[in-house]
Amino acid sequence: MHATADLTEADRLMTVCNSCRYCEGLCAVFPAMEMRRGFADADLNYLANLCHSCGACYYDCQFSPPHEFNVNVPATLAAVRAQSYAHYAWPAAMAPMFARNGLAMAVATALGVALFLLGFAAANDTAALFGRHTGPGAFYALMPHNAMALLFGAAFLYAILALGMGVRRFWRDTGEPTSRPGVLRWLWQALKDSASLRYLDGGGVGCMNEDDRPTDTRRLYHHLTAYGFMLCFASTSVATLYHYLLGREAPFAWWDVPVVLGTLGGAGLVVGTAGLFAAKLKRDVATRDETHRGMEHAFIAMLFATGLTGLLLLLFRTTGAMGVLLAIHLGVVFALFVTMPYGKFVHGIYRFAALLRYAKERDEMVHAAE
Ligand code: SF4
Ligand code: SF4
Repeated sequence: MHATADLTEADRLMTVCNSCRYCEGLCAVFPAMEMRRGFADADLNYLANLCHSCGACYYDCQFSPPHEFNVNVPATLAAVRAQSYAHYAWPAAMAPMFARNGLAMAVATALGVALFLLGFAAANDTAALFGRHTGPGAFYALMPHNAMALLFGAAFLYAILALGMGVRRFWRDTGEPTSRPGVLRWLWQALKDSASLRYLDGGGVGCMNEDDRPTDTRRLYHHLTAYGFMLCFASTSVATLYHYLLGREAPFAWWDVPVVLGTLGGAGLVVGTAGLFAAKLKRDVATRDETHRGMEHAFIAMLFATGLTGLLLLLFRTTGAMGVLLAIHLGVVFALFVTMPYGKFVHGIYRFAALLRYAKERDEMVHAAE
């Protein structure tokens, strides 16, 4: 007995696939499936998060529709995966709100924070909001640095706590003790597999998106988005170190490390998320999970808006538009932080945890056979 209809369907499919095993070379899902005789909910959540939705097993399958077995692994695992984000979310009560109205919640939060910052600045000094500010400390004409650091530090720490609790629940549910996350070689293997998106390659030929012709464009856009996000995070981290260790205040010159990292990261986010969105629109309807599209769109929209508003702020930071652009950018970043633990953002973290577990299982199997 499974908790949802999608988990029941995933159990049926994995049972069929475990008899067939034709796709065992395509990705990690099938070898991990072959290590099991039965599939509890936790096993299915683990397998769903190992799947990278490359689509290859749908087009390769002799039992996919219109065959009566109706085997559609990518769409079913995508639905189970999306449900697993809500299942493991912390605090659990927050998840349904975002699952149903992810995009609306994210936009409302971004607008609310931007309006709060604009109102805060206007109440103090309208000239500070619409005037031109240049040189070190110019951004803090909108809001004092300490107030800004407190507000965004709290949102960031909340996101880290909620994400950490969620992945801890996932890890424990899949049967691994939290005190023994794995030795270094498993971590290294999982790191390599996730950093290269190894299982988004359809077994070596490329991802299948709109039809059965393989292409690497989706992997490229994923990389641009993920590495763009990391560069933006690195930019903010370096700027924070500058502030507290060197006493240097933002904004910095165009050639300085935080600006170079932020510009490259922002460009990666804008191009990567636009490419992912276009690929989603073109994706074969048969391999899509239509029930959780709102969650995916919210994730893409918030990352795109983060990159775009950051680049606009960089372009117009010496003009009178700086105050409004900074408020909008900060509103978007705040909304991204607080919605992160309840949306598609967690897929990267759960996928890493699933890859870590897979590296451990595979390693133990090889040693047991020796
Ligand atoms: S997806 Fe189809 S071909 Fe692949 S293992 Fe499952 S049943 Fe066999
Ligand atoms: S869609 Fe790709 S990653 Fe997912 S199970 Fe099928 S072959 Fe594996």
